[in-house]
Amino acid sequence: MSNFDPKLLLTIYILTMRRTYSFYMDVPEGFLDYLKTCSEIFARHVDWAFENKSTNKIQAHKDLYHKLRLEFPNIPSNILQTTRDQALEIVKLLKFASKPKKKPYSAVRYDARNMALRGNLLTFSGPGKRIRTMIDLPTFFQKYKSWVMKSGTIGYDKFKKKIKVSLIFEAPTPQTIQRVKTERIVGIDRGLYNIVALSDDKAFSSQQVRKQKRKFLHVKRQLQAKGTRSAKRKLKARSGREKRFSSNINHVVSKWLVGLPYDTFVLEDLSGIRNQNRGHKVNNWMHNWTFYQLEQFLTYKAGALGKQVIFVDARYTSQKCSNCGITCKKNRNGSQYHCTSCGYFGHADHNAAINIRSNYILSAAYASQEAIWSVEQALANEPNAVLLNCNATGFLVANQ
Ligand SMILES: [Zn+2]
Repeated sequence: MSNFDPKLLLTIYILTMRRTYSFYMDVPEGFLDYLKTCSEIFARHVDWAFENKSTNKIQAHKDLYHKLRLEFPNIPSNILQTTRDQALEIVKLLKFASKPKKKPYSAVRYDARNMALRGNLLTFSGPGKRIRTMIDLPTFFQKYKSWVMKSGTIGYDKFKKKIKVSLIFEAPTPQTIQRVKTERIVGIDRGLYNIVALSDDKAFSSQQVRKQKRKFLHVKRQLQAKGTRSAKRKLKARSGREKRFSSNINHVVSKWLVGLPYDTFVLEDLSGIRNQNRGHKVNNWMHNWTFYQLEQFLTYKAGALGKQVIFVDARYTSQKCSNCGITCKKNRNGSQYHCTSCGYFGHADHNAAINIRSNYILSAAYASQEAIWSVEQALANEPNAVLLNCNATGFLVANQ
């Protein structure tokens, strides 16, 4: 149906590579109290958001900034701001479903405003003053010296009783390549909380569907227990109704998907999905919900519009951090994904959807003879190479 040629991806994909260098240092004076205060400031913004049913940064700033500055004069203004942004972003991501909590000594996010590396001298904001420390990048890390340190995290390791500093280096962005026509790709994750969650943050919740499914199951059990002839007749009718309900939902979801401004829909290869250790509840749901039918509907509806559906390897999509590329099982906690390495926080399904999209882009580039050099290099040298979310730059395909 599609005349898509992965070779054309070669000219457009952008690989952002990040490397994290972590080291431990002695706890600077007052630093633990400072971390605690940051958690407090975080909590205050979360409370503010819930009281005002808002995640508006400007409004939060107006209401809280001066108050907090007076109350916590030791906390630098820029740290107050990054903490505010972090708190409000998380509340927004969670859609007020639950109050995010920051542990007293958990890492504080830093960026170019409050952290800098000049030669071997690292400076970062701390309680009341800028903290300076000399660092020695180990030999294996020397090759990243030309990369830019754009962000980092600093927290307390209670076992080592030291401060853990993580510096995130980014490779310089490759050159922009000529644009032909935009190809739009979206990653789709299927799971327990959402029938589908997309890499662009859209989702189709499974809440109503699961509720209805439970109802069907409840009635079914009652009728089975009765066992009379009329009960059996009713059971048969109900089973038909349940099937129609499921396929109706699948029609709605697939129609919604193909109507979105994307040309390529990337899904996980379902055959591998149940082998993943996603827990009993999720596996059951994956088994119960008619994902295979959804695939079929989506494939023919997309095909009719000249769009395509692609399947990719499902491994690690739910455990990998879509921001820094680290795979860590512990980062996922139910519907939440919280990266302990880079601080990324998001809905687990959304995180997985971004990974699904990246997997496809990487494999498509891999499939292209000409791209093998760069991808191989990326995989060999940078196991945590991450593909930048390319919505802003767009993908190009010439032969549409
Ligand atoms: Zn991460």
